Amino acid sequence: MKKVLITGGAGFLGSHLCDRFIKEGYHVIAMDNLITGDIRNLEHLFHLEHFEFFHHDVTKFVHISGELDYILHFASPASPIDYLKIPIQTLKVGALGTHNLLGLAKEKNARILIASTSEIYGDPLVHPQTEEYYGNVNTIGPRGVYDEAKRFMESITMAYNRFHGVETRIVRIFNTYGPRMRLNDGRVIPAFIGQALRGEDLTVFGKGDQTRSFCYVDDEVEGIYRLLLSEYDQPVNIGNPHEITIKDFAEEIIKLTGTQQKIVFKPLPQDDPMQRQPDISKAKEILGWEPKVLREEGMRKTYEYFKSLPSDDLYKRDH
Ligand code: NAD
Ligand code: UDP
Repeated sequence: MKKVLITGGAGFLGSHLCDRFIKEGYHVIAMDNLITGDIRNLEHLFHLEHFEFFHHDVTKFVHISGELDYILHFASPASPIDYLKIPIQTLKVGALGTHNLLGLAKEKNARILIASTSEIYGDPLVHPQTEEYYGNVNTIGPRGVYDEAKRFMESITMAYNRFHGVETRIVRIFNTYGPRMRLNDGRVIPAFIGQALRGEDLTVFGKGDQTRSFCYVDDEVEGIYRLLLSEYDQPVNIGNPHEITIKDFAEEIIKLTGTQQKIVFKPLPQDDPMQRQPDISKAKEILGWEPKVLREEGMRKTYEYFKSLPSDDLYKRDH
């Protein structure tokens, strides 16, 4: 039985990856310090013989006994309000955490896949973003803590690949959504749906003419799974190219939820990227992957999930 370590396993993407690897017949070890995650995302796996959970901060030395085949490094705050609140931890998990996990991969002779992001392209001057684009990041801006941690993460990963011969994979994830996002994490989908459920107006930042392209979690997990098992060690964009402005998206959510509330405009956060759309030619060609879930269907499932949460979650302001 193959053994996989998933850091950030109690988070949104990490927990879906745990489910997928359990389903594929792996022994899964989830590791998380719960700084932005939620143990409830994993509770349904606790009774399984081939599932383990370690409460651990990966910026500290990481030890796993026995053999290990794969590592997926997903630990990191991922929403702008999270990483602005814990900037130093964000830098440390991208830098020290990644270093520890690469060291573990080297020791165990395991293949490691790291979760990079479309944020490494910053506020892009190339559209849609191809993997060849080097990006446009403000290193000293508030978002720099996340973007630069992820850029460093890619660099050290390639250094371990070249210098130590570690088998590495780099996925550049574009905005992904679905059940198990934290309702109060500040990302646009939980923010808008939470506002609709509480009967508040939807807060569109700036004029709402900035764009994003949203990928449903099942599609994202499929792409990540294929990349891990592929022989390709260069970065690959995994996301849904279906682009929409934030204002149009707010209107879609008003329709979906049937809320009587309206859109209100708030200041655009500093360095908020104006447009974002993945070029997924590489993923199509190398992995035979493309997203399948339409936004309408994915958003319906996501809305059902948020509606099913205890009302306490709806009013939790902080993590
Ligand atoms: P999330 O906040 O739900 O999950 C991250 C998890 O990492 C949490 O459970 C958190 O407690 C854990 N964590 C953070 N620091 C840790 C540390 N030092 N030690 C151990 N655990 C730690 O976020 P997510 O959306 O699931 O994102 C997961 C990964 O995917 C992140 O690396 C993120 O940068 C990347 N990513 C996500 C998206 C997206 O749209 N969801 C886009 C691009 C990249
Ligand atoms: N956004 C918004 N209102 C909110 C939360 C976010 O208009 O209440 C905007 C935000 O400014 C950004 C987009 O939605 O332009 C996506 O934000 P998110 O935090 O989800 O992700 P990211 O900016 O990292 O892509």
